[in-house]
Amino acid sequence: RLLRQTQFLTSAQRLDQCPPDEGLEVAFAGRSNAGKSSAINRLTGQKSLARTSKTPGRTQLLNFFEVTEGRRLVDLPGYGYAKVDRATRQQWQKELDGYLAERRCLRGLVLLMDIRHPLKDFDRMLVDWSAEAGMPLHLLLTKADKLSFGQAKTTVMKVASSLKGHPAPLTAQLFSSTSGAGCDDAWDRLGGWLEL
Ligand code: GDP
Repeated sequence: RLLRQTQFLTSAQRLDQCPPDEGLEVAFAGRSNAGKSSAINRLTGQKSLARTSKTPGRTQLLNFFEVTEGRRLVDLPGYGYAKVDRATRQQWQKELDGYLAERRCLRGLVLLMDIRHPLKDFDRMLVDWSAEAGMPLHLLLTKADKLSFGQAKTTVMKVASSLKGHPAPLTAQLFSSTSGAGCDDAWDRLGGWLEL
């Protein structure tokens, strides 16, 4: 799998520090603790590419990873920690909004949600943005190992059907960084978007 070659490229605190807006990019977003770092590490087969941590505020920046030349994964700032002060949160919001609004090489957005707590306010904001922007959206319902397989499947179906009529391409799957469930589907989606 090409994704296993992924390497850290750069961090950007502001939009003007992003790599040149060329090639193809897929962005990962999710509330803090959704399992985003674990998923990125699992999908790239690397233990600590994205920092896995419960420490509030550790994922403050836009982090860029290069799969191959001109093909990137982007780790967007996490949300949802009460401990992050308002100014910081507003700054994240600004950078995230700017990135989403301006990034032309963005091909798709992966939205990670804990399968036990899907579609919170922050998630809905990104779903709405995907609709307005016509940006393809892939929902990764993480920590599927916390539910029985049947419950997990049912949740994926419920979430997907609650978003029926979404005006941009939308797909949803279950995922577990712990068990590896859903990796093949996620690889297929990323590979398609990044034309790997
Ligand atoms: P992030 O804040 O979205 O980057 O979330 P992390 O990847 O740091 O994960 C948050 C917490 O959830 C950590 O304690 C992880 O060990 C745990 N976690 C992440 N993915 C899974 C999963 O697939 N299954 C289980 N059971 N726990 C997970």
